[in-house]
Amino acid sequence: MEKSKHAVEAKNLSISWGGVNVLNQLNLKLNDGEKLAIVGPSGSGKSTILKIIAGLILPTKGELRIFGEKQIYLRLDQNNPPDVRLVFQNPALLGSLTIAENVGFLLKKNKNLSKKLIHEIVCECLAEVGLFNIENKLPNELSGGMQKRVSFARALITDHTLNAKTKPLLLFDEPTAGLDPIASSRIEDLINKTNNKANGSSIVVSHVLSTIERTSDKVLMLYGGKFRWAGSIDEFKKSKDPYVFQFRYGKLDGPMQPKDI
Ligand code: ADP
Ligand code: MG
Repeated sequence: MEKSKHAVEAKNLSISWGGVNVLNQLNLKLNDGEKLAIVGPSGSGKSTILKIIAGLILPTKGELRIFGEKQIYLRLDQNNPPDVRLVFQNPALLGSLTIAENVGFLLKKNKNLSKKLIHEIVCECLAEVGLFNIENKLPNELSGGMQKRVSFARALITDHTLNAKTKPLLLFDEPTAGLDPIASSRIEDLINKTNNKANGSSIVVSHVLSTIERTSDKVLMLYGGKFRWAGSIDEFKKSKDPYVFQFRYGKLDGPMQPKDI
């Protein structure tokens, strides 16, 4: 099959809960290799979009293609699932497994890989995120920041022995929410490094301006179930669009009001 130039292609994607259309006929195209930020106020449905793309939930209506393949099942039920990696807002490591087991989880499925080789690949990924000699520790023996790095290492791990059809799609949900500006910069550097290493496409969901501006090429603004604005990072910085303006400057008056959420 010819490889699609779109990492993600969504048409009329909708999801509703209890009669509320959280996502209302969204169209989205992400070119292979592109880096997109999805922004919008809390509760606008950003995490929901990532969960649909990651195959954790199914949309109520609409069509989703990832690397050209139509997605109709949840990811666990799928044959040949696409290579989509979601980095959750909290590190979501498995508490009873060692760091090496957490990071190497994906490779265990491949019975052709020796324990020694898996260990080597795990250590390489941990080194990429600046972590050394922690593979035998349990998650609760590490600081929050280190756990976050481990979750990035887990997103980086690749089974080189498989003939990867496509490059990975990396999804980051609020990677810098609640962090101080310096910690945020470190995580933003890590996102860029992870993206470069994985050599794929990415979607970052965030409301932190530095994160949006430092990690992405283009921006989609989500509000009230619809994308209200789309543009490049440069346009996002200069735009006088009422949604973008209100979001950037945290204005109370503007098109986005609590009653609509
Ligand atoms: P964001 O990530 O932009 O803050 P979410 O995607 O988490 O927003 O949620 C969007 C809306 O959908 C919210 O109003 C939330 O309460 C609702 N929602 C999210 N997940 C569920 C669910 N599993 N069941 C019911 N409502 C949900
Ligand atoms: Mg969210």
